[in-house]
Parts: sequence; structure tokens; C-alpha cells
Amino acid sequence: MYFHGDRNKNNIAITFDDGPSEETLNVLAVLKKYNIKATFFVVGKMIKNRESIIQAIKKDGHEFGNHTFSHKRLWFKSKKFIEEDIQRCDNELKKVGVVTNLVRFPGLKYGLNTIKICKLLNKKIIAIDLITLNQFAMDWFNPWLKKIGLIKNEIKIDDVVKTTIKNTKNGSILVFHDYLQEIGPHKELSSILEIILPELKKKGFNFVTVSELLN
Ligand SMILES: [Zn+2]
Repeated sequence: MYFHGDRNKNNIAITFDDGPSEETLNVLAVLKKYNIKATFFVVGKMIKNRESIIQAIKKDGHEFGNHTFSHKRLWFKSKKFIEEDIQRCDNELKKVGVVTNLVRFPGLKYGLNTIKICKLLNKKIIAIDLITLNQFAMDWFNPWLKKIGLIKNEIKIDDVVKTTIKNTKNGSILVFHDYLQEIGPHKELSSILEIILPELKKKGFNFVTVSELLN
């Protein structure tokens, strides 16, 4: 399982989970503006009717990862369920011409069965840097506070922006979400990226795909 890349190199990888969604196209525009290649961990069930979004990601030269078909937590699931859920996502990806050996578990939750099945399927398990386990650095946190009614006004992005810029290190794997579970497309994401991408570049970081980061 990979949490980060080489700490002695200035490479970092930005990743997007849970899409594709209608926000993904805005994300692609920002990535293109700063000439950055990213890795998209897509959810199999999200692909139907959004095939053109997958094609757009592909056309821009980004990498893909498997984030399961159902996005159910895998830690107490049977081997059969885990294998089928990962393979079903692979099959949906195959239909749009994408093959990947990267997998990330929903909610980063896993158990022994999950590890065994990934070994069997020859998958590289991609986690994230410890920094992003801090909820204030998670891009879903403020939209979620709004959903449960704890934020009344506009969704704030400063916490995510500040914490990400402060804590990104050599080799970091950053995670954002182009789709938010039970909320919808992440509408603040491109504004977050518009600030952090140039800022991290200014700090000397070099954005690469996850596979490049781990090579
Ligand atoms: Zn997810």
C-alpha cells in the first residue's frame, strides 16, 4: 500500500475521487491551465451517461484508478464481494477504453480480505498522505457541514486551501473529490484548485501522476 512517494524528490501527485461528475470538466480546465497531470479514481457506477467526461479526462492525458463499482466500504465485506466490486469497476472502465492497475478503497477502509484480493488481481493500493487525513484539509468537510446545517452561508474553502498548502511535502499524494457522496458535483473544487495549484508550483513542487510518483 502506498501513502506517498519519494520524500527526497519534489514530485507530488494530485488525485480526484468519486467522479466522474459534471464538475470534472471544470477541474480539467484548471489542470490544463497550469499544465498539470492528475489521477482520477473513478467510481464504476458513476460512468454510465458520463462516458464523454471519461473521454475528456483521457484526451487530456490524465491517469485513471479504480475506486470500486459501488463505493461501499470494503472492510467487513466477503472476498467475493470485494473481487466483484473491483472487477465491475474495471469492466466499466474497459468499456470506455481504460485499463488501470491502481485501486483506492472507498473511505480508505479495508481489511485483510481487501489486501488479499488486490494481490490476486495484481492491483497497486493507493492511499493518501497522512496530512489529508486531517478533516480540515479534506475538501468534502465544509460542504458536508453545510449539508447537515452547521454552515448557513457560503461554503468556505480557506481551511482546505491553507492546510493543503502548509502540509504538502515531497512525495505527497493529495486527494480531492470531483463528486461528493450524497451531495453531488463538488462545485467549490475548481476555486480550491485555482489557488492551491499555482501556489504549490511556486513552492517548487512538480505534479506527476500516481504511477510516475511511485516509479
Ligand atoms: Zn471515495
